[in-house]
Amino acid sequence: MEVVKKNSIIHLDLDAFFASVEQRDNPQYAGKPLIVGGIFKKNGELSRRGVVCSASYQARKYGIHAGMPIWEARQKCPGAIFTPARIRYYQTSSQYFFRICSAYTPFVEQVSIDETFLDVSSCEALFGTAEEIAREIKQRVKEELRLPVSVGIASNKFLAKIATNMGKPDGFLILPEGKAVDILSELPISKLWGIGQKSAKKLNRAGIFKIKQLITMPDIILQEILGENGPKLKQLAQGIDHDPVVCSEEVKSISRETTFPENITNRERLMKILLALSQNVGYTARKKDYSGKTITLKIRFAPFTTIQKSTTIERATNLDNTIFQKAKELLSSINIRQPGIRLLGIKLSSLQKGKQPRQLDLLNNQDGEEKWIKLVSSVDKIREKYGSYSIQRAALLKEKKDDISKKL
Ligand SMILES: [Mg+2]
Repeated sequence: MEVVKKNSIIHLDLDAFFASVEQRDNPQYAGKPLIVGGIFKKNGELSRRGVVCSASYQARKYGIHAGMPIWEARQKCPGAIFTPARIRYYQTSSQYFFRICSAYTPFVEQVSIDETFLDVSSCEALFGTAEEIAREIKQRVKEELRLPVSVGIASNKFLAKIATNMGKPDGFLILPEGKAVDILSELPISKLWGIGQKSAKKLNRAGIFKIKQLITMPDIILQEILGENGPKLKQLAQGIDHDPVVCSEEVKSISRETTFPENITNRERLMKILLALSQNVGYTARKKDYSGKTITLKIRFAPFTTIQKSTTIERATNLDNTIFQKAKELLSSINIRQPGIRLLGIKLSSLQKGKQPRQLDLLNNQDGEEKWIKLVSSVDKIREKYGSYSIQRAALLKEKKDDISKKL
């Protein structure tokens, strides 16, 4: 007997989110090419530096897209309106959007500030079919937030997202499993998850341009071109995706702590341990695909007094250096008294699933965090190849004798 899988995965993506919020709040921008992003000088003039964070659909007609340098966007559409990004403000709309989604199912996976997957398979008795639930959410987002959202419904996450993208903007599309393979087969391979520019080029060189060509490729050749991802991509090409909707709440925090064999009062030593802890928390967060906004420092004074101090940053992070800098600030504000510290720990919380939202990444680039993102990803690769302790920042090397890192 053939098992027909229900279409119970809903993907939602707010259209041109930042630009839509600005258009909503500034009626004079409605229907016009609007570009959010860039750096504004004190005199209100727009600097040539900076990148587009979000472009309204009217601006996209000119070929403008997120990530494009501001000067280029200006060249393509000199008449466009430019406005600075107000991330904190957009977050309030984002939170409201997720509250609406959570009213229908506990299975809400936040992909980024404006994108989510819902699994409504166990909620249909309460709220109706996936289609009914999705229509109601779309309507509420339109009425309560006055924002357009595109919706895709399918039997799995991959197909639901394909459906959303096909319907954009302001779309609503159901992609039945039976039709999925036909629709997929004509799409370019770059539409598959996990195929970046590099892999796409490799496949193009091997003569593969469309998804349907991938399905007939022998596994062994695919593996050679795409590595261990090969078989997974072949499944996606056939519309098969077993990835579950993972609730962002499932992991509430990532923490590491260490108890010392003897009490420590030396600040320099404590800083080194803090660095190792930050690296470990950052690495774990990256591996689990989380980033977090709240960094907590835990200190236990000998014998038993424990204190915790927290700080919250604007953008979620999983970068060792950002975690370390914040933890260091917290430690600096603490008076280390005799007989010293017995335990030190770091916790990263207020977690969100997935890479940092793309639009936020673009902002990060302006203050050099991109450099750190590149650095940690190459360090992670070396760690995985040669074992966790092959790379430590120079400051840690001396500490290693004491084998503190082993306890982390
Ligand atoms: Mg969006």
